[in-house]
Amino acid sequence: MTGGLLLLAAAAVGVLLWALRPRRPAPPPPLPPAEQALLQRLPQYAQLSAGQRERLAEQVAAFVRDKDYYGCNGLQVDREMAVLLAAQACLLSLREAGAPYPQLRSVLVYPGAFVVHDPEPDELGIVSDEPEERIGESWDAQRIVVSWPDAQQALAGSPVNVVVHECAHQLDPLGQGRPEGADPQRWAAVMAPAYEALQRHGSPVIDEYGCESPAEFFAVLCESYVQEPAALQQAHPALYAELERHFGLALAAT
Ligand SMILES: [Zn+2]
Repeated sequence: MTGGLLLLAAAAVGVLLWALRPRRPAPPPPLPPAEQALLQRLPQYAQLSAGQRERLAEQVAAFVRDKDYYGCNGLQVDREMAVLLAAQACLLSLREAGAPYPQLRSVLVYPGAFVVHDPEPDELGIVSDEPEERIGESWDAQRIVVSWPDAQQALAGSPVNVVVHECAHQLDPLGQGRPEGADPQRWAAVMAPAYEALQRHGSPVIDEYGCESPAEFFAVLCESYVQEPAALQQAHPALYAELERHFGLALAAT
């Protein structure tokens, strides 16, 4: 091959490699000021640093761009609702380098608690055909289901945060009670004794639903961390410290 042809071939390979490079989604357009102002409705907003507030706005913009919202039972999900749901979800993803919850595709929003027929056997192996009422579900790696009035109550300071609960399940796709990226040994050293203690003595802060499994323990613990951080820190300082270390939000700071 002549020098000229070689150069041409090299250029062609370069163009091909450029075209095949892994694609990163373009950054989303920034939230308009009115939508940025909605983020201040988060009870946790005052505890975020300037950098975390900026990151939250970026993550919320990516979340509302990338996820499909579905209003169920006649509910219309408007842009304000979408932003407020995303804001709660992204509290747990501010440290993620890329877009939030890359596996998650859909957010189903109900106008209240919804009824499911749960085929899962209970601890005795009995499968009930009685319908159960729920305020949230995380079906698989791609969908969460939440009740809008309950998401609003979390904004008003309720100890329950259904969006954070279901998003915690998304961060723990194997249901081990540990978010991806956490050191397994270190995590277990803090969480395993706390899980046992909850089953034995209960907790003034952590919902007893956390006794169901390590995955539910992690999900309700995340709710306590974001909704009642000072109470969690007081009652369970080691648990609070581990969550602050992992998520990077000093929510109990006064
Ligand atoms: Zn759960």
